[in-house]
Formats: sequence, structure tokens, C-alpha cells
Amino acid sequence: MRSAKPYTNATFTHRVDHEAGRHRPARAPTEPRVCGTCGAVYRGRRWVRAVPGPAPVSSSGAAAAVTTCPGCRRVAEHAARGFLYLSGAFVDAHRDEIERLVKAEARRTLDDNPTARIIAWEAMPAGPLVVTTTTEHLAERLGHALEKAYDGDVRFDFSHENKLARVYWHRD
Ligand SMILES: [Zn+2]
Repeated sequence: MRSAKPYTNATFTHRVDHEAGRHRPARAPTEPRVCGTCGAVYRGRRWVRAVPGPAPVSSSGAAAAVTTCPGCRRVAEHAARGFLYLSGAFVDAHRDEIERLVKAEARRTLDDNPTARIIAWEAMPAGPLVVTTTTEHLAERLGHALEKAYDGDVRFDFSHENKLARVYWHRD
């Protein structure tokens, strides 16, 4: 006898695809939409970088609704999902170089996901330099980039429940 327990797809609706910030909301919002702040376009259920040319329109030719993308919203609200902690004597001695590398890597990330942004650089007195990001993945990617460029020790700490990534990079 088959179980009478109803089988629902609820199990699958809360999954979040970690790559490229693709989220699958239960109800797909209207497309396309355009971010009034950075110009990113939401289509095909994901945010993509604005491209030069005519403004995006729907399949019926309607103008895209103007909204605020998750990246701009998180930057405005300082709602970080990634924290990158940089510490060690090397960081103080090479601060400018490190900052350039991190910013260049963040710019490259925009091609994959325009909502992945650096929110702030915060130098703690006698503590680590903290870079906050709008996505967990960006903090992770920046940590990998630092390790690749300068070695040092990197540690990743993910909290899936809270959707936070803490990345610690240290070099003396
Ligand atoms: Zn935006």
C-alpha cells in the first residue's frame, strides 16, 4: 500500500544556487527589470551586467520595470554576507598592492554576478583590515585570489543557516 503522505516539492523550493547569485524564488518576478542605481538587468532569472545599447524590454515590448538590485540594496543597507579579514605584517606593508588586487578581482566578479560587490573597507585599530561583501561567494573568491597571489594562510568559515561567509587571510 502506498503511503498517503502527500509528496510536495517544498523540499526543493528553498535551494539556493550558490554560483552566480542565481536565486529561484517561488514566484518569478516580472522580467526584465533594471536596477535604477547600477543598471544591472534581471532576466532569465538572474542579474546580468548592463550592456550598452537600447534599454531592455519585455517580450511584449514593454519597458523594463525599474527596481534596486540585491547588490545595490545590500551596499546601501550595509547588509554584508561576506567578511574578509586580512591580518599580519605583510598586510600593513603592502596595503596599496593588496587593495588593488582585491578591487581588480571584485571587478572581474561583476562579469559573473553584478550583485557581488565590496561594501566597505574597515581598518580596525590594532586589528585586521575587514572587507565586507554583498555575497558569500565574493569573500571566498577574494580569499582565494589573495592566497594565489601572496600565499599566506587562508581559512574559510561558512554558516549556511545565516548565509554568511567569514574568510581569514593572514601573512606575516
Ligand atoms: Zn544595482
